[in-house]
Amino acid sequence: MAKISEPAVGIDLGTTYSCVGVFQHGKVEIIANDQGNRTTPSYVAFTDTERLIGDAAKSQVARNPNNTVFDAKRLIGRRFNESSVQSDMKHWPFRIVEDAGKPKIQVEYKAEVKTFFAEEVSSMVLTKMKETAEAYLGKTVKNAVVTVPAYFNDSQRQATKDAGRIAGLNVMRIISEPTAAAIAYGLDKKSDTTEKIVLIFDLGGGMFNVSVLVIEEGIFEVKSTAGDTHLGGEDFDNRMVEFFTEEFERKYKKDLTTNKRSLRRLRTACERAKRTLSSGAQASIEIDSLFEGIDFFRTITRARFDELNDDLFRSTMEPVEKALSDAKLAKNEIDEVVLVGGSTRIPKIQSLLRDFFNGKELNKSINPDEAVAYGAAVQAAILAGDKSEEVKDLLLLDVVPFSLGIEMVGGVFNVLIKRNSTIPTKQHYNITTYSDNQPGVLIQVYEGERSMAAQNNLLGEFELTGIPPAQRGVPQIEVTFDIDANGILNVSAVDSSTGKENKITITNDKGRLSKEEIERMVAEAEKYEEEDEKQRDRVTAKNNLETYVYEMKSIVDKCKEVTDWLDQNQTAEKNEFDHQQKELEKICMAVMTKLYQQAGGAPGGGMPGGMPGGGAPWWR
Ligand code: ADP
Ligand code: MG
Repeated sequence: MAKISEPAVGIDLGTTYSCVGVFQHGKVEIIANDQGNRTTPSYVAFTDTERLIGDAAKSQVARNPNNTVFDAKRLIGRRFNESSVQSDMKHWPFRIVEDAGKPKIQVEYKAEVKTFFAEEVSSMVLTKMKETAEAYLGKTVKNAVVTVPAYFNDSQRQATKDAGRIAGLNVMRIISEPTAAAIAYGLDKKSDTTEKIVLIFDLGGGMFNVSVLVIEEGIFEVKSTAGDTHLGGEDFDNRMVEFFTEEFERKYKKDLTTNKRSLRRLRTACERAKRTLSSGAQASIEIDSLFEGIDFFRTITRARFDELNDDLFRSTMEPVEKALSDAKLAKNEIDEVVLVGGSTRIPKIQSLLRDFFNGKELNKSINPDEAVAYGAAVQAAILAGDKSEEVKDLLLLDVVPFSLGIEMVGGVFNVLIKRNSTIPTKQHYNITTYSDNQPGVLIQVYEGERSMAAQNNLLGEFELTGIPPAQRGVPQIEVTFDIDANGILNVSAVDSSTGKENKITITNDKGRLSKEEIERMVAEAEKYEEEDEKQRDRVTAKNNLETYVYEMKSIVDKCKEVTDWLDQNQTAEKNEFDHQQKELEKICMAVMTKLYQQAGGAPGGGMPGGMPGGGAPWWR
């Protein structure tokens, strides 16, 4: 096996949960965080005293709803006035403000108003995943493969890459989540030499992706993708929340949605109940003093939960049909149906999908919440030069989620790169002038499936000027669309008579951060890191002291007890004094042993997620 000098990890930067894995010793390890959890909530919270990321942020959300940020993935790479941003905004408890056309998240941090771009919030989540990996590997982690939904366009991919850079990562590649899941899946089946057609059904917390892939001898080809960027486990949680708030209203004539904290507490309880319902037929919700002192104790059955979500569950079949028809495949041509994403654990979803495929057994061999990070970790190992048997023959082809092209005379959309083309790819197209002596041409780059350019999404535009005077139709201008392995688009136009060229990387017009901004954010991220570190050290020191005092106190208490006994038993027998002595010694020994173990009895940080060097042991 080739030596990898620097570790390379795979990160699934999820809308609701993130996951990190590393390929080593011939297999992928999914790394647990400092709470022992293998997925980490994509949450960042700001308080009067500190910044919290992951589980710590999510668990305090009820107390601090306005300053606990999540769903940054719904904002990343988007413009403020995009309709999805405008509608999402209405549902978030934190504030979104506009800055140069981009959305920013506004919070109060250490008693000051602060605003962050989505790239920055995502970078904080990535930092947490980086630290999780570093704690486990015991060394600095720089290289990473980060995943994005198949539906992410160029600007969203770019912004995700920027988030990685702000977190101090070298993002070796951005890959689509379904593709990553397919890598994880294909790896298991690599010995198979026949072609396999696989449908990946990824239903997570906030997004839904369906992809059809062809896997042959370790080579993956994405045939088609479809999905819904607004469908997932959170919607199912919301249905349960609505159900209970309506019931509450009927019963108590009170609207608990007027209190954000009550609503958050109910939502947390509903998510928990939902998870229980994936394995049990019934779940209970118990919330003390939910609203105006009213205790809320309820049970919900799986049947009721399924009924509440019936239309949502059924709607997942539509993208499955679309992905099949785009790939020109009938359902019986699918060899394997693969479940990915935490919400695919819901039995009703599984049975709908099984029925759709006429009773076909679903493939659940990959842990659904971890499959994406698993595949990303494999891809990272390949890019880092790992030559081990398990990965050596893998090659990866990804696809373009939208058709890409330019606007022609009359507003017609001319497609250069078709939707679902495999990448990297490059296409040329010759254009010319439409009036005599026209000195320049405007190249407008769009993505979308509509026939008129204006109905599609404008990605960017540039002008090629200095065309020598000529009759209309004479100048030859070659336009090139070039999509690199990360799915990032470069468009150029060259005047063949002069060789004069102009080009763009699709960035600025989509509100990408400038180089200076990224550098500033990197510096800020480091500052936050330092502050977090200080805070962590402070808390560790406090905990250490508290533990120490507490344990010592038990000795002091025992000493006092023995002293009192002595005062009253001056004439006791030898064996009684011996007994008292032994009891005292026993407590002292127990305390010392315990403190020794707590202070790091397992040297070398053998525990996954243990913070290396976090707080000096008390006896040193
Ligand atoms: P993401 O969509 O962020 O990539 P995941 O794939 O980890 O995240 O999916 C998270 C979603 O899965 C959450 O909505 C969570 O409530 C849901 N989920 C996790 N476990 C279960 C379960 N046992 N039953 C039902 N839903 C679950
Ligand atoms: Mg996911």
